Amino acid sequence: MLNISKKTFKKDYVKKFIELHGKELEEGTPQNKYETLGTLVRDYIAEMWIATNKKYNKTQEKQVYYLSAEFLLGRLLGNSLLNLGIRDICKEGLAELNINLEELENLEQDQGLGNGGLGRLAACFLDSMASLNIPGHGCGIRYKYGFFEQKIINGSQIEAPDNWLRGGNVWEIRKPDKAEIVKFGGEVKVEMIDGNMTFIHINYEPVLAVPYDTPVVGYENQVINTLRLWSAEPVSNEFDFSSFSRGDFLKAIEYKNSVEAISHVLYPDDSFYEGKLLRLKQQYFFVSAGLQSIIRHYVKHNGDLENLDEKIAIHINDTHPTLAIPELMRILIDEEGLSWDDAWRITTNSVSYTNHTILAEALEKWPVDMFKKILPRIYMIVEEINRRFCEELWSKYIGQWDKISRMAIIGDGYVKMAHLAIVGSHSVNGVAKLHTEILKKQEMQDFYYLYPRKFNNKTNGITHRRWLMKSNPKLTKLLVDTIGDSWIKHPTDMEKFENHLDDKSVLERLQQIKTENKIDLAKTIKQSSGIIVDPNSIFDVQVKRIHAYKRQTLNCLRVMNLYNKLLENPNLDIVPRTVIFGGKAAPGYFLAKKTIELINAVADKINNDPRVNEKLKVVYLENYRVSLAESIIPAADISEQISTTTKEASGTSNMKFMMNGAITIATLDGANVEIRDEVGDDNIVIFGMNEREVLDYYKNGGYSSWQVCNEDERLKRVTQDLVNGYYSPDKEKFKTIYEHLLTYNDEFFVLKDFDSYLRAQDKVDEIYRDSIRWQKMAGVNIAHSGIFSSDRTIQEYATGIWGSGFLYKNL
Ligand SMILES: *Cc1c(COP(=O)(O)O)cnc(C)c1O
Repeated sequence: MLNISKKTFKKDYVKKFIELHGKELEEGTPQNKYETLGTLVRDYIAEMWIATNKKYNKTQEKQVYYLSAEFLLGRLLGNSLLNLGIRDICKEGLAELNINLEELENLEQDQGLGNGGLGRLAACFLDSMASLNIPGHGCGIRYKYGFFEQKIINGSQIEAPDNWLRGGNVWEIRKPDKAEIVKFGGEVKVEMIDGNMTFIHINYEPVLAVPYDTPVVGYENQVINTLRLWSAEPVSNEFDFSSFSRGDFLKAIEYKNSVEAISHVLYPDDSFYEGKLLRLKQQYFFVSAGLQSIIRHYVKHNGDLENLDEKIAIHINDTHPTLAIPELMRILIDEEGLSWDDAWRITTNSVSYTNHTILAEALEKWPVDMFKKILPRIYMIVEEINRRFCEELWSKYIGQWDKISRMAIIGDGYVKMAHLAIVGSHSVNGVAKLHTEILKKQEMQDFYYLYPRKFNNKTNGITHRRWLMKSNPKLTKLLVDTIGDSWIKHPTDMEKFENHLDDKSVLERLQQIKTENKIDLAKTIKQSSGIIVDPNSIFDVQVKRIHAYKRQTLNCLRVMNLYNKLLENPNLDIVPRTVIFGGKAAPGYFLAKKTIELINAVADKINNDPRVNEKLKVVYLENYRVSLAESIIPAADISEQISTTTKEASGTSNMKFMMNGAITIATLDGANVEIRDEVGDDNIVIFGMNEREVLDYYKNGGYSSWQVCNEDERLKRVTQDLVNGYYSPDKEKFKTIYEHLLTYNDEFFVLKDFDSYLRAQDKVDEIYRDSIRWQKMAGVNIAHSGIFSSDRTIQEYATGIWGSGFLYKNL
């Protein structure tokens, strides 16, 4: 907690304003005022940051490095103020200067260096590590362009570049003196030097990796950890421009462009793999720079590499940073002179790996030719890891060639990153109980039998500081008024709230808060889309990446069916609904982009049909991102978590919604299962096929979407509506969706789950009519959401994987 009075803050603020802008406060633009506050807060942080690092160097506590290709931080100002414990003081101080804090906070650009759940998880984890006094730091890429900005124009997604650095970034500090060189291409010469085989990398292309550090503020505990993001720059001294002939000058420009391309843009694919050369370069770039700087720092302050694995933990978020394994081997062997066996022991003991998906299309594998050419030395090391691993398999599984070739790290002309990650680490975790079980008994069964002790579960979590305290201050106040504030440090204490759910005044306040949040969101909807929605209707929300397995199509078909029903019977007695969608599609994912078009076409027709408008509206909110999520989620009545069972590894928006008192309508997929276990069957609405049924269909076949469709008049009608011009004069427009469902047999069982989903929606309607019952359900969900705080998740990682659990005794 930062100790500062309102008076000092005001003085500091005005002084900083004048320093930065050279004019008086009254003449400042809102942007000037935001920049001033951000810079001042960063200055406040600086001293604590230095002190934290000093303490880490002195105590030599185990340092955790969380390697991730994505960090989806969102905005930093509000949460930094909250965690520093000075948000109220700033708010009051600024008000006295005629400045509204929230207005300044809303001027901040989202830091959108991630696609969705995986990147947001990394951001929640940074917040929790700092808040739990764990020396845990992020390592990633400082993309010049983050995740694209989505515009919905004439009902279609249009992508615009996210030039997030345009207005500057007050949070980062460039550290050119801590730059590292990363080497690409070239050849490896093997020489015997003093009787040792020595590997010399020659003719490589050097890339300068420059770190930008962002402070990660712990909650009222004086801890400031570091997120270090690397930017690719040309090695300037390498090229003496005057000595170049014309041809070489062009070459130098080419070199500059090819280097800068590495940290230019985030790939906008989620749960999808493409064998793009640049992506392989990105992955090696940040992993190599990160590890070189980690080892350099370690050697400087500690020295003894022999027990490196007791002093640092390296966590890889999905397979994107898997090259950390051969890169650490390279540093230890080639640069530090360790033997293979010592290097291997240290590496495997340091590295741990999280798997995020079982979708086949998401599993990374790099063509051997490409890999070898770009990373010749790393390839040699991977080959040697593979050779030794296969040797182990040969002696264990005598004659079982099928199994051995299935498990090999290199095979069929590819390097298989998940195999490398499992073999080269000491821990492999899934992200929800169901997901981990599927990994063990299906996708990674061979590896599970070989290394049963490596596999473990760590159910995902979300930081309650951003997703409740910051985004829903009114609900936060209700909790503090009823149960005190112990839950802020111990989120499972939120359970105490359940004891207050027989108190009518508490339920009334709960309803009041939801209504106020809905009124706020209605304003946002009006501003961004022009659509007027009724805050007394059910706000029914599905916001997440657009993906076939997440089944936005199922939700949309349900809306289309409801529309048909309302037209047939205008007196149909339903609770009015506002169905809200949001999410981005990968620019190259045709079906997902068509899904956005369909939802917008359906929305357009329904919203302009006065016959049904009192009862049904459909909204597509453009450019879904962290800051928008923070205003949508506190206003949701219904959380749509309707993925095909087995396909969503965990989900995290399900947890955010629950924590804000939305009722979940869900399949028993990912962490939905654990949410159900927490709240009980009466406080969630479950539908759809279970795990066994889905796996059985995938294994044995027997599903006919055509047959299911033909046996259900409602389905016949809504699927025909896709291709009969009902929602578009262009009958071909939604043909892809129709074909996916009927011609190609509906890979994700949308039609199969349709009936069950509709019955679940009827049940929602029925429950909502009983206001007391609904508010109690909302209350139970809030009360049981503490277990899904990422503080719980991080405690489990620390004690179960990283071996830094002893730190908790101080809590
Ligand atoms: C939480 C979050 C996600 C993940 O949502 P899921 O529904 O779990 O896929 C994606 N994007 C943003 C901006 C988020 O905040």
